[in-house]
Amino acid sequence: MRKTADVVVVGGGIAGTSTAYHLTKLGVKNVVLVEQQYTPFGGSGRCAAMYRQQFATESNLWLAKLSSEEYYRLEEETGCEDIELSKCGYLLPAYNKENEEQLKSNVAIQKEFGFDSYYLDPKGCKEVSPYLNTDEIIGGSYNTGEGCLNPMKVALAYKAAAMRNGAEFNNYTPVTGFDVQGGKIKGVKTPNGDIATDCVINAAGEWGKFIGRMAGVSIPLEPEKHQIVVTEPVEYIKAPMIYSLYKYFTYIIQVKHGGFLMGWSDADVKAGIIDFEPEWKFLENLAKRIVPQVPALGNLNVIRHWAGQYGNLPDHGILVGGVPEVEGFYMALGATKATMFGPALGTLAAEAALGEKPSVPEDIFQTYLIDRFAKGELIFDKALL
Ligand SMILES: Cc1cc2nc3c(=O)[nH]c(=O)nc-3n(C[C@H](O)[C@H](O)[C@H](O)COP(=O)(O)OP(=O)(O)OC[C@H]3O[C@@H](n4cnc5c(N)ncnc54)[C@H](O)[C@@H]3O)c2cc1C
Repeated sequence: MRKTADVVVVGGGIAGTSTAYHLTKLGVKNVVLVEQQYTPFGGSGRCAAMYRQQFATESNLWLAKLSSEEYYRLEEETGCEDIELSKCGYLLPAYNKENEEQLKSNVAIQKEFGFDSYYLDPKGCKEVSPYLNTDEIIGGSYNTGEGCLNPMKVALAYKAAAMRNGAEFNNYTPVTGFDVQGGKIKGVKTPNGDIATDCVINAAGEWGKFIGRMAGVSIPLEPEKHQIVVTEPVEYIKAPMIYSLYKYFTYIIQVKHGGFLMGWSDADVKAGIIDFEPEWKFLENLAKRIVPQVPALGNLNVIRHWAGQYGNLPDHGILVGGVPEVEGFYMALGATKATMFGPALGTLAAEAALGEKPSVPEDIFQTYLIDRFAKGELIFDKALL
């Protein structure tokens, strides 16, 4: 392992690999990434693999724009074979007039960003999502530019491209501490040796707060347990993810091998610790919420059930840029949506660490910085669970 680096990236998920790639793209010669396990051990290897454009705030719409545009060209740009991108879309059902008004106003702002979003009546919803029970909905918003991809292949594509540009990746190399002198980063400690550097980027996802703590930096991010299942396969019908934002707080998508991938945002979720243990009660609760929406799923067997973590910030936003406590300590923390925002996170985190002009307007960039918490300037997106 190298003993010095221009930048050390901590964490080999989508956020970290994308950051390493973007640093090399901006001309940084000696980037070293350290990962405690392997790519993608964390959320990037455990998620539902969806990327989205249906947001309600400019902050998130900018992230979706940067990210989806990069995802569309990623194979060509990085030379990787196939990231399995499919523009299957999301369908967000409206159950009452209030939901309908919110979704229509979301669609209007999404169109300003050039996204192909529409508001559909129940008949239109049934056409795009034939297995959805439309009895209890009055319409829904739909988009044809968003969908799913393979996050493991994405992370490995970024890794390969960054390595071709000279970056070094070290698996099974946990960061155990930092050398901080006079309020400045001077090095990274690992059991495989220390790395002298003036610049560290924390891309450790749901572990982000613990990495901050090692450097004396306080990050208001909490790991939050989320579980997910997949059923046995049946005949595949390309259809959007049903994302019940207003009633069941669930998502349902049929993946290409024919199985249905499903999860829900449990209000009673375990937070503050990393816990990968699947729980039986989750299956019971999930079934009660899924079957009214897609009755046919009541007859399918679940074949896999696993758990992962979100890294939740109080406003479910992202964090890039530096911190007040330690000079040279930066972040690329995607919180709840680092898979879909991976390209934007890597781009903005690399630009911030190098002092480059951000790829988003300056006022939008301010909404991604850590001082928004001290200032109480939080923005909540009404299109997020
Ligand atoms: C069930 C579920 C469904 C989800 N669905 C979606 C979805 O459809 N779309 C979406 O965008 N997001 C989804 N998410 C969220 C998404 O998974 C995460 O936001 C994203 O994967 C985080 O990526 P990351 O690179 O920031 O973190 P990770 O992929 O978790 O990577 C962080 C890495 O840091 C490493 N690390 C930690 N500590 C250390 C250390 N001390 N030293 C070195 N390395 C360290 C870890 O091993 C890990 O590999 C879902 C999450 C779950 C759990």
